[in-house]
Amino acid sequence: MEDKERKEIYLKSGSEYREEDKRVVRSAAGSRFRRKTCRFCENKDLQIDYKRVDILVKLVSNKGKILPRRLTGTCALHQRAVAKAIKKARMAGFLPFNAL
Ligand SMILES: [Zn+2]
Repeated sequence: MEDKERKEIYLKSGSEYREEDKRVVRSAAGSRFRRKTCRFCENKDLQIDYKRVDILVKLVSNKGKILPRRLTGTCALHQRAVAKAIKKARMAGFLPFNAL
């Protein structure tokens, strides 16, 4: 049954197989969605560093909380590094502990 659904996706997206089709998956409810990928795995030049506030700001909510993996798509390995970098940046005063 799943193979049939997959074929359907390929036919709709064109005759050729595309790399991004791998990311199109179906949830249990049957809706199609694109799986988020870790930006640090995709781009090896992107280093997680507490001084790179421009990167860390995207991984923090506007209340100052660290965004969960399910929202950002970051992998477990990099999420741990991100959390550490954000905590370090807070201590250094680059990021707020909380914001109103
Ligand atoms: Zn990663």
